[in-house]
Amino acid sequence: MSDCLFCRIVSGELGAAVVAEDEWALAFRDIRPQAPTHILVIPKKHLGSLGEAAEEDAVLLGRLLLLAKVVARGEGLASGYRVVLNNGGAAGQSVFHIHAHVLGGRHLGWPPG
Ligand code: 5GP
Ligand code: ZN
Repeated sequence: MSDCLFCRIVSGELGAAVVAEDEWALAFRDIRPQAPTHILVIPKKHLGSLGEAAEEDAVLLGRLLLLAKVVARGEGLASGYRVVLNNGGAAGQSVFHIHAHVLGGRHLGWPPG
């Protein structure tokens, strides 16, 4: 999708601080970090949100979480980290290309805001 911000990062049209990548997904640093480590993991294929996911997206969703784990390990977040998927505007989703936030490096309160 040429008008999707994260598709433009996948294609290389827009720059990003990439930390990891595999055949299915790309991980890069959030431009406005909310924790010492704040990385976004996105599928290379466009999918708007978790709410739009279908059976055929099962592998894509699994690969997203597995790359999130690799990223967390690479960032040294052994003591704990959080993986967040905001789904829909009321939950804070502002970019409609599904992404997992990997947050760590500070105490993370619960429940989240
Ligand atoms: P959401 O609010 O949709 O769950 O998360 C979108 C995230 O994308 C936000 O944390 C925001 O800071 C980040 N973001 C928005 N635009 C850009 C960008 O151009 N580059 C990067 N690296 N992150 C972005
Ligand atoms: Zn997209």
